[in-house]
Amino acid sequence: MFDKILIANRGEIALRVLRACKELGIATVAVHSTADADAMHVKLADESVCIGPPPARESYLNIPALIAACEITGAEAVHPGYGFLSENARFADILDQHGITFIGPKAEHIRMMGDKIEAKRTAKRLGIPCVPGSEGGISNDIDAARVAAEIGYPVLVKAAAGGGGRGMKVALTPADLSDALATARAEALAAFGDDAVYLEKYLQKPRHIEIQVLGDGKGNAIHLGERDCSLQRRHQKVWEEGPSPALNAAQRTRIGETVAKAMRDLGYVGAGTIEFLYENGEFYFIEMNTRIQVEHPVTEMITGIDLVNEQIKIAAGSPLSIAQSDVQIEGHAIECRINAENAATFRPSPGTITYYHPPGGLGVRVDSAVYQGYRIPPYYDSLIGKLVVHGRTRTECLMRLRRAIDEFVVDGVDTTLPLFRTLVRNPDMQNGLYDIHWLENFLEAGGMRE
Ligand code: ADP
Repeated sequence: MFDKILIANRGEIALRVLRACKELGIATVAVHSTADADAMHVKLADESVCIGPPPARESYLNIPALIAACEITGAEAVHPGYGFLSENARFADILDQHGITFIGPKAEHIRMMGDKIEAKRTAKRLGIPCVPGSEGGISNDIDAARVAAEIGYPVLVKAAAGGGGRGMKVALTPADLSDALATARAEALAAFGDDAVYLEKYLQKPRHIEIQVLGDGKGNAIHLGERDCSLQRRHQKVWEEGPSPALNAAQRTRIGETVAKAMRDLGYVGAGTIEFLYENGEFYFIEMNTRIQVEHPVTEMITGIDLVNEQIKIAAGSPLSIAQSDVQIEGHAIECRINAENAATFRPSPGTITYYHPPGGLGVRVDSAVYQGYRIPPYYDSLIGKLVVHGRTRTECLMRLRRAIDEFVVDGVDTTLPLFRTLVRNPDMQNGLYDIHWLENFLEAGGMRE
């Protein structure tokens, strides 16, 4: 096992990783920008290193500064969290060249899944069902028109390097296609420096259902059930839950086994998530994330398995400590992403938290790195915490969530808590009847204007 791990991240996920390290008896090194000198992960780590000024490019994405921090402190491994360098294959390679372990999959798998065209090709080869679409990239408008006519409108133009919902444009009819292509390409070039795009059938009322996997690269890979992340705004997840209200046990086992077998065949190492759209009883692969995800606590709450602890043990070379038969799904869990944003306009609201009181009690978990008097810097994403609630049934979980939200007090900045207070009382949400468009329709209809 490692003696010392450097956590190359900030915010709640840095703290989450730190907690797993402490429980494994591993010393921790926090890194931070000058804007994060007062951050909780810095206060709680055994050592800390300032790696640069506030812009992420000069600090959390600064590979030379991170390597230097490892060398100064003698850290043997780096946990990248999510975002920042977590899916950067070059970072994994450079760490390897310095004899430092990257806590994550092989660089070749990060690279393969980071290119969505390549990822879909691989998924297909491994027997994972995919959304109908172009075989590979789209080279020109004529090519696109031919493929679109084949798969049928509406179609979605997607960026090969896509992420965070950027570089995605719908063409409802042939007349929209050329504009959709041009806009998606321009957006992709600006956001990712790569204008490669591909086409997919645009599914009209799907749910987003993803499968959590763990592999050890020694012939073992298991699945830990699904998370339903259909509640989205601008293709960004807002509320995640597991098990999905739309699946039964047989469907769960079938898709879970397909995915676990694919990961065994691939020789996948570490934690990963295979994302699907689900419509009319069918699963369609959209992408794979080769890292720990924001919503991983949902799975931890219903399986009792600490995913970050598993990631670290796998990276240290241990075989999987759990077999598929050890994974038992118990009860129901829901996660709400609490952002420092206005709950009606979604305008970011950085500033100082003047009063902070998180909820507690049975089945309530708050993953957050903020505290009373903490100043939320304006440079990074607006996630200030995750409220995760577990219950023996979905109904119990919803009632517990309702009371936990009512207990939660964050003063001084706007938060999305009022959105969740409304959602948890909504009949569609209570019945689990929502698809990927439900939240935007609800907001457009004035659901948060009172
Ligand atoms: P990103 O990597 O940018 O998050 P994804 O491929 O994971 O992109 O898709 C994000 C979201 O966009 C999905 O959860 C879904 O809401 C929507 N989406 C993606 N592909 C399709 C599709 N073919 N049809 C309908 N919606 C889609």
